[in-house]
Amino acid sequence: MKAWRNESSFPLAICAILAFLMTTLLVADDPVTLQHERMVADQIESRGIRNPDILRVMRSTPRHLFVPTNVRSMAYEDRPLPIGYRATISQPYIVALMTELLAPAKKHRVLEIGTGSGYQAAILGQLAAEVYTVEIVPELARSAAKTLRELGYTNITVRQGDGYKGWPERAPFDGIMVTAAPPELPEALITQLSRGGRLVAPIGSVWDQELIVIEKKADGTIKRRSVCPVSFVPMKPAGR
Ligand code: SAH
Repeated sequence: MKAWRNESSFPLAICAILAFLMTTLLVADDPVTLQHERMVADQIESRGIRNPDILRVMRSTPRHLFVPTNVRSMAYEDRPLPIGYRATISQPYIVALMTELLAPAKKHRVLEIGTGSGYQAAILGQLAAEVYTVEIVPELARSAAKTLRELGYTNITVRQGDGYKGWPERAPFDGIMVTAAPPELPEALITQLSRGGRLVAPIGSVWDQELIVIEKKADGTIKRRSVCPVSFVPMKPAGR
């Protein structure tokens, strides 16, 4: 009597089951994977971010590879982290919230001001067609470009320069995200926003900032709303 219709498939089935069990155990045992999963569930989903595409990229982007080795063990914690040169990588929830407010789409061209570690650019790059990102500190621009290249993000271009000027050669942008806080919204960025486009930025002084969303309507008029208080590193004035 045959329990298996095709006897040769028995060892194969056993191998497949063993491989599945080993992969499951390895993933469950990997502390980074566990912390990463928890970050999305406890910090992002639980605070109301529901967009499945944003949750997916927040789950799959290796945040620990964007931070210096001395803070790597804290990469998935509910906080911003220092990345050198008085810059910080934003708290994961703030990255997700700003991404949701910007609402990037697969056909969009997006500008980011304040590349920092390159992490926010990596998130945007997976949701938009092209990302252009400007960083004023040469060392950060260089290391972010290297990280993004090594991780295979091919649609993100990093430039060292002054974010107050935007990136006129690549304008207009469907979305602009500013990740350092200027005291007021730079005029050049509003000019470089396309009609129907959105801009998300922290605006204010070191102690008193609010996250704002600007929408440029089809007729060119600007609608501005405030979302919540935030705390970002100040945007360095031009020429400093
Ligand atoms: N988005 C980053 C975090 C940005 S922190 C990330 O995902 O890691 C803010 C960054 O803005 C810092 O790296 C800082 O050097 C940069 N910055 C400050 N003033 C700037 C300016 N005028 N133009 C461009 N970048 C600026």
